[in-house]
Amino acid sequence: MRVLIVGAGPAGSLSAMAIGKKHDILIVEEHQSAGFPVQCAGLISEDCYGRLRRYSKCKLNDIRGAFFIAPNGEAVELEGKCRGIVIERKILDRDLLAKASEFAEIWVKSKFVDAKNGKAEILQLGNRTTIEFDAMIGADGAYSAVARCFNFERPEILSAVQIECRYEALSDDMVELFFGKSYSDGFFAYAIPLDENARVGVVSRSNPKFYLENLIKKHPSASRRIVSSKIIELNAGAIPVGLVDFVKDNIALIGDSAGMVKPYTGGGLFYLLRATEILKETFPNLRKFKEEYLKSIGREISFGMKIYRLYSKLEDEDYNYIVRMAKDHAHLAKELHMDCPSTLLRVLPTIIKIVRKPKLLKKLLSVLAT
Ligand SMILES: Cc1cc2nc3c(=O)[nH]c(=O)nc-3n(C[C@H](O)[C@H](O)[C@H](O)COP(=O)(O)OP(=O)(O)OC[C@H]3O[C@@H](n4cnc5c(N)ncnc54)[C@H](O)[C@@H]3O)c2cc1C
Repeated sequence: MRVLIVGAGPAGSLSAMAIGKKHDILIVEEHQSAGFPVQCAGLISEDCYGRLRRYSKCKLNDIRGAFFIAPNGEAVELEGKCRGIVIERKILDRDLLAKASEFAEIWVKSKFVDAKNGKAEILQLGNRTTIEFDAMIGADGAYSAVARCFNFERPEILSAVQIECRYEALSDDMVELFFGKSYSDGFFAYAIPLDENARVGVVSRSNPKFYLENLIKKHPSASRRIVSSKIIELNAGAIPVGLVDFVKDNIALIGDSAGMVKPYTGGGLFYLLRATEILKETFPNLRKFKEEYLKSIGREISFGMKIYRLYSKLEDEDYNYIVRMAKDHAHLAKELHMDCPSTLLRVLPTIIKIVRKPKLLKKLLSVLAT
């Protein structure tokens, strides 16, 4: 069977490895190499790293938990069920593609432009080439050309901007999450420690650059700890939220193209890795692939969407209250897994009991009911 994979990011490379040597696989990638430009903070769970480690030793730092920081600067330190790992995405993408080359032919500087009746048009150094395929995987990111070509529904797109700079972290093994209306429109800002530096970024529904500047210049905690605003690395990108219908006949979308992203953090690596693990068990039956993925991750993404919707409803005073309250109940975080937002259901009855702000409780319950 001839399989065309569009995109040589992690979703494309892992898909090729999943489909395996029994099939004739071609990966087309529009850039010269994988992992460039970098569009990632590199934070994944240790479970996720445990599964990726055999392909790439790309770990940079261990993460014990997170400081949740309210708009007033107050912070609560929480440790969940699973630790985090900071990785170097350039290395991961490069290693995954090298491994994928054992399973697939790879064409770089080759852009998918269109497809019809089992034939795809690829633009290669100004020349158009036609490729026949029996199945196609669109692993071509948030703005997927494959999705557009086959009229797939599209997820909502958030914008992210991130810098690496000198930063005095609160702790070298804790990430920092900054909430509040001045630091993101409908999401949050973050700092991920790396030796003397940090990856400091904002995910937002609009204008992330404006919010990042606010964080750097005005945040009561973060702004005092930016040691130098000299930027070591800058990157910006798109974060899709909301899983779309990702299979049509012999075409499947995997990764950002499908919205396989945690809607409450923007992390995409674990949910796309799961997709490729399921692809391995089900290919070439794409309908079964979809069914199994929805069984395994569908519920987590829909629950994650509730948390995402809650961000837009919360006011600064709500975040200040939540952080203050969480200090007395930090042990509850031990029940939560960073890849499985539904673990929140385990502590929900306690949260409902301890929240003493009726308006906040109403917001929480109204989002959970959607
Ligand atoms: C600022 C930022 C921070 C993030 N931080 C994290 C994090 O900490 N943890 C985490 O898990 N996730 C994070 N993510 C999300 C994560 O980076 C993505 O989920 C992940 O890269 C998705 O992989 P992918 O292979 O689906 O898509 P991509 O990595 O986008 O790869 C798509 C590939 O397809 C190629 N392509 C596109 N169009 C075509 C075409 N027409 N023809 C041929 N090739 C094409 C592109 O060149 C690219 O190589 C972050 C995202 C951003 C923007």
